[in-house]
Amino acid sequence: MDFKEQKTSNKPQVLPEFRHMNPNLASLKIIIFYVLLGFSWIIGSDYVLEIIFPDPDTYQFAQSVKGIFYVALTAIIFYLIIRYRMLMYSDTISSLERAYQELDEGHHRSLKLENQLYDLAFYDPLTGLPNKIMLEQTIDHYIQEKGDQGIIGIVYFDIDEFRTINEVKGHSTGDELITTIAHRLQDSIKKPNMVARMGGDEYVLAFFDINHLESFLPMVEEHIKTIRQSYLLDEDQFFITISGGIALYPDHGKDYITLMRHADAAMSIAKSKGRDQIVIFDEEMVMVIKQQTELLNQLRQAIHQNEFQLHYQPVIDMSTGKAVGSEALIRWVHPTKGFIPPLEFISLSEKNGFIKDITEWVFKDAADHFADWGKQKNYKISINLSATMLMNEKFIGSLIHWIQEYKIDCKKFNIEITETAIIPDIEKSIHVLNSLRRLGFTISLDDFGTGYSSLTYLQKLPIDAIKIDRSFISSIKEDTEEFYVLKYMIDLAHHLKLAVVAEGIETEEQAEMIKKYHVDYAQGYYFCKPMPQNRVLEYFKSIHQEGK
Ligand code: C2E
Ligand code: MG
Ligand code: MG
Repeated sequence: MDFKEQKTSNKPQVLPEFRHMNPNLASLKIIIFYVLLGFSWIIGSDYVLEIIFPDPDTYQFAQSVKGIFYVALTAIIFYLIIRYRMLMYSDTISSLERAYQELDEGHHRSLKLENQLYDLAFYDPLTGLPNKIMLEQTIDHYIQEKGDQGIIGIVYFDIDEFRTINEVKGHSTGDELITTIAHRLQDSIKKPNMVARMGGDEYVLAFFDINHLESFLPMVEEHIKTIRQSYLLDEDQFFITISGGIALYPDHGKDYITLMRHADAAMSIAKSKGRDQIVIFDEEMVMVIKQQTELLNQLRQAIHQNEFQLHYQPVIDMSTGKAVGSEALIRWVHPTKGFIPPLEFISLSEKNGFIKDITEWVFKDAADHFADWGKQKNYKISINLSATMLMNEKFIGSLIHWIQEYKIDCKKFNIEITETAIIPDIEKSIHVLNSLRRLGFTISLDDFGTGYSSLTYLQKLPIDAIKIDRSFISSIKEDTEEFYVLKYMIDLAHHLKLAVVAEGIETEEQAEMIKKYHVDYAQGYYFCKPMPQNRVLEYFKSIHQEGK
């Protein structure tokens, strides 16, 4: 259905009437003038001729001449009158034509303006896609048309980490991405289904031709595939993922507002589950969203109310069995909910800008602890740095300020960044990592093996170590495919002169195996769980005595 009506031009009709004069009266005037002139001429001229030509023959001749003269004179008079009238009419007609032309042009101008206003009201100016008003009208229309019988599917989604792209590459590149995605979607969606832009990096796909739910999800997947790809933006390759929520009419809402609210709720669940997925709405989500909003409000207070703690997990040197440092892991001790794990609030704080305060707090607290116990044994402390901070233009400036303020000895600190943090913009990441190294930090690539194309860019990155992700270790068995990938990773890292750390070692068997394959360092519950800072020194002492 096309809601954009084609406006046709309504040409005003020109009527051949001249309202400024009465044609009957004008004609009557001419006739009276003619009759009076005729009578006066006949009576007057006869009388004059009788006087001038008393001879009857000459008089007769003069009468004939007079007749001819009369006819000629009246012909001239009629000619002049008719000419005068005709000129008057043709003047009037041309000025009418001019007026009509102007009217016609004005009409076209107003039609164009009307169309522009229509476009502004119902279409997004950047992408040309229908906007939310048009989407609402269309959905309302189909809800009415289908009644309770049909199904309508709404997919509300946005681009993961779009803010980072905008910050790193600037708004015009961000706009370019938004438009490219819009065009790809427009090409893949066929009527009666539609794609609309809701603003920012948010889009909605609306499906009005769903016959079976079984075929609906693969169909959504197909459309998403067309945009879940890599894009060349400003000479850099970006891989885009999206997170979205699905709401279905009539099950998840019987009107536009409810459907959109529920699709949006499902989208935030997709984000909090780690992004890059589409989630279907269910009623429990309303409660989850409510809890998240509550958590966000409490997170605002957490720093000021001293509710964060740093726990430390020792890093063991596999060749000596001794601890060489520890990783600082943040904990939120909520006044009523108790321990809240970092994964539950770090991404929330990234979205809401609290991550800067949290990062500052971590650096400050870790620097205090280092002064307290780290120094004694020459340990290194590893700090996890969020992707949002890494990509923030002001991060290095803030860090230099924190280094001075909290007296951070950069050489004693290692910074962990995840693989997924650097992928969106490798060049920029390299630049920031180099700055960090110049300040004296060492760098580890955390959760290695969970990213997209780990091995291809490894040699380009200014890093000191890779930390092989727990998921790799936990499933490993000798002679399996994963095992050979792991072995290859270790060899490659060593070849590139990078240290290898294995995370999540839980069993003796795993510890033996990584030792056998020359992993340099390890962390995991097998050695020690993360512990509060006051127990760290105690642990270090015990492990060195035991020589574990
Ligand atoms: P990560 O940096 O990869 O940290 C390792 C996670 O694995 C930690 O979870 C740790 O407690 C857990 N772990 C360690 N050994 C084992 C094991 O043997 N078995 C199992 N099952 N788990 C093990 P945690 O503390 O919940 O932290 C999760 C993630 O949150 C961290 O992953 C890190 O990415 C992030 N995070 C933690 N603290 C901070 C922080 O201060 N700032 C930032 N930006 N992120 C942080
Ligand atoms: Mg880590
Ligand atoms: Mg990790």
